[in-house]
Amino acid sequence: MDNQCKEDGGTESQLVDDIAQELECGCCSELLYKPVMVSPCQHTFCGSCCLLWIRNGGTNCPACRAISTTASPSRPLQLVLDALLRNVPQKARTEREREQADVIYKSGTTLRFPSPREASPEPNVNISAEYARPCPHCSPNNTYGWSCPLPIPDPAVDLEHAWHLDDGLPTGHVQCGNCETFLALRAPSTTRCDFCQTYFCGVGVPSRCSAAPIPLQQPHGFTDIGDLIQSSDIYECFNSNTVEVEIMLDYITAQGLSPRHIYRDIVKYILEQPRQFRPLIEMELFIVSHVGPRVETDSLAPLHRICRSCACEIFIWGIKDWWIRERRKGFLEESIMNRKDCPAGSGCAMQSEFGHAKEFNHIDGKPVGFTTISAGSATPTEATETTAITEGDHSPSTAESIPAVTSAPVSE
Ligand SMILES: [Zn+2]
Ligand SMILES: [Zn+2]
Ligand SMILES: [Zn+2]
Ligand SMILES: [Zn+2]
Ligand SMILES: [Zn+2]
Ligand SMILES: [Zn+2]
Repeated sequence: MDNQCKEDGGTESQLVDDIAQELECGCCSELLYKPVMVSPCQHTFCGSCCLLWIRNGGTNCPACRAISTTASPSRPLQLVLDALLRNVPQKARTEREREQADVIYKSGTTLRFPSPREASPEPNVNISAEYARPCPHCSPNNTYGWSCPLPIPDPAVDLEHAWHLDDGLPTGHVQCGNCETFLALRAPSTTRCDFCQTYFCGVGVPSRCSAAPIPLQQPHGFTDIGDLIQSSDIYECFNSNTVEVEIMLDYITAQGLSPRHIYRDIVKYILEQPRQFRPLIEMELFIVSHVGPRVETDSLAPLHRICRSCACEIFIWGIKDWWIRERRKGFLEESIMNRKDCPAGSGCAMQSEFGHAKEFNHIDGKPVGFTTISAGSATPTEATETTAITEGDHSPSTAESIPAVTSAPVSE
């Protein structure tokens, strides 16, 4: 490889090579770039490599496959890398490689490995066992202030009267869509998602075992910006245009927005549409794999409550349109807004290429969601507004040249 150091001292260059070898990324086998260290196994990877691994469904360490919780930026390692590169700058990754990695991973971010499956709090006795287990309300002396009129006999106490699961669901009970234990349909703690018709117990993991009023729900899997960065769904919404997603993530960070806030904006927007959630129900967005009996969603029934999974569906469905609306507020830097529109438009197949996506704008300003599902549903005023405002055509008064984003009034 590098022979130029040989003359000044073979041992020194040997040392440099040895160190460089120790500092290889376990994914790309190149010198680490913005390294992260996986807990608890302590394997190290480029932040971007590790993030791509997670985004592609990785739930454990890419090297040893040990159960892993987080990958954190490693400052000591970065200092060693910096020292190494001061001595052998030719070992640095190319500028293009670094630029691409920077789009994927922001240094300083701790990555979380998702759990292989959104785990139930306890082993699932109801599903595996032959007999139904009593629900939390079945005992007449329970602490919830309400008891089942037809309690499920406890198979551990009274096997003779136990409810065999071959006989279907025990009267008045179904399984919770989150923790999968039985719940009493009439218990005050029971809620139902009006979108997927799944019931939730409200007892197992109260924050998760519940269908909440629509604007108050937390979209499943999207707690903070880190979840957005790690979600492959988000990138798919944007035709794998990592540059545009990065612009959006910068904006979301600068504005201090949470996924929940964005979800609320999306819900508010949908509720302002003439047919509200109906088009989404008609496109069968909410057929999700919950346990329990499946009931057809009546698209005209009133909608009050929603589960975390259905809120997540709405979030993913609506985030690109949300972003198109945010961009119109005019807070983005001119260098971003002044990019030429790609002749191939928002569906361009090349926008997953970094260089192309950086050069051309692929957001055409037409909302994707409602136009694709029901072209005629937008009100006339809105339709004209959509065509009148084109991206990159902001009047000079909207904003002076500003850093990526300024603090803007968050849409209430
Ligand atoms: Zn790497
Ligand atoms: Zn490992
Ligand atoms: Zn019960
Ligand atoms: Zn539950
Ligand atoms: Zn639901
Ligand atoms: Zn293009």
